[in-house]
Amino acid sequence: MKKPRTLAEPFKIKMVEPLRMTTPEYRRQTLQTAFYNPFLLRSDDVYIDLLTDSGTSAMSDQQWAGMMVGDESYAGAHSWEHLERTVRDLTGMPYVLPTHQGRAAERILYGILGGIDKVFISNTHFDTTRANIEFTGGLAFDCISEEHSNPFAELPFKGNIDTDQAGKIILQYGKENISAIILTVTNNSAGGQPVSMHNARQVRELCNEFGILFVIDGCRIAENSYFIKHREAGYAETSCRDIAREMLGLADAFVMSAKKDALVNMGGLLVMRDKALAEKCTNLLIISEGFATYGGLSGRDMEAIAIGLKEIFDEDYLHYRIKSTEYLGRHLHEKGIPVLRPYGGHAIYIDAKTLYPHIPVEQFPGQALVCDLYVQGGIRCVEVGSVMFGKYAEDGKLIPAKSELVRLAIPRRVYTQSHIEYVIDVFDDILEERNQARGVKIAYEPPFLRHFTARFEPLT
Ligand SMILES: *Cc1c(COP(=O)(O)O)cnc(C)c1O
Repeated sequence: MKKPRTLAEPFKIKMVEPLRMTTPEYRRQTLQTAFYNPFLLRSDDVYIDLLTDSGTSAMSDQQWAGMMVGDESYAGAHSWEHLERTVRDLTGMPYVLPTHQGRAAERILYGILGGIDKVFISNTHFDTTRANIEFTGGLAFDCISEEHSNPFAELPFKGNIDTDQAGKIILQYGKENISAIILTVTNNSAGGQPVSMHNARQVRELCNEFGILFVIDGCRIAENSYFIKHREAGYAETSCRDIAREMLGLADAFVMSAKKDALVNMGGLLVMRDKALAEKCTNLLIISEGFATYGGLSGRDMEAIAIGLKEIFDEDYLHYRIKSTEYLGRHLHEKGIPVLRPYGGHAIYIDAKTLYPHIPVEQFPGQALVCDLYVQGGIRCVEVGSVMFGKYAEDGKLIPAKSELVRLAIPRRVYTQSHIEYVIDVFDDILEERNQARGVKIAYEPPFLRHFTARFEPLT
């Protein structure tokens, strides 16, 4: 058999951003001044930044050209018309509202649909989604499919919602109290795992049966479509864009953070079918974001989003994107690094508890690995474990998170395949020194969202 060719980028580079090379000694010191929390590092001290895929995409020459012709008129700008047309075309929904980012769209929509004891059901609510619902006094229930419980089982759609469980919640709370079912695609908080078209159809049927609004939180809908094309029967010949249109066609509303699959650094969208709901949302938009034809965005930003929403469905791009992430996952797995499977669309998750079995959860093995990756290779990533989700019992003992993961999120079109190879190489050093790895303790923590600003000390 012929050796498979290198997974080469379907783009070339016209403008470069230099990266500073640093030494492990330098990084050891820098990490100490950042209190062993990579959120407190200066980005100049990072070589490969895998902290998030949100707002970190590289724009294309076409998008930059669009920035130059952006129309900055207060009302009725042609850049707005371009964006509105593009989004209507993709979603089949008539009412399009621009917002400054995803959570602004969420605040508006869930501000109207929410309220005391209003119930929302999702495969997994993303943290800003849950926060915006709970802020209104509403209740957010996650119904992740049973298949998700085994982190290493190779199943095609581990992001799906369990519609039986959702149906039980509807009966328990009464259909009149259910504000919406929110399908997050891909399922960001559940390992970036995809949702099948079949599952979206089941949600549509459930919503029809009980008269409930169906919302898609779809900031990674293009990546999800690629998975459907390659994993779900009947879609191999359908374009990813048509798959996305079919899925969005099932929903009543669409919330999108443009910082992901719209390939821009800032922006969001709130899109609806219902006129009365759209009117209420428009009023809130004008109060809090801006006039209805720009929301929280400048004309050039809207132009760039409109172009990004077309580029993201380029089949060569999507193939490269998903395969490059998979390549990283597969090579780490082959080295013996415990990696969640199947590999997600935008990130690879490492099971730090299995990699560092000698570090107890009270000493945060995920945070230890995050620190080691920075010192060994200048790689920045984030712990998704007991630092992020751990709680305290009455007696002050840690109630650990369900798992101790480290997330390597891949920015879109930013790093090349040789950067990915570099990341894989750094794990050789991690493996070689795994027995010497040490845990950390928390020296300072704020009352909420502690992972952003907590300070740590290494244990000896
Ligand atoms: C990022 C994200 C959001 C929030 O969007 P922001 O642009 O960061 O405000 C909402 N839902 C999901 C699934 C996300 O990944």
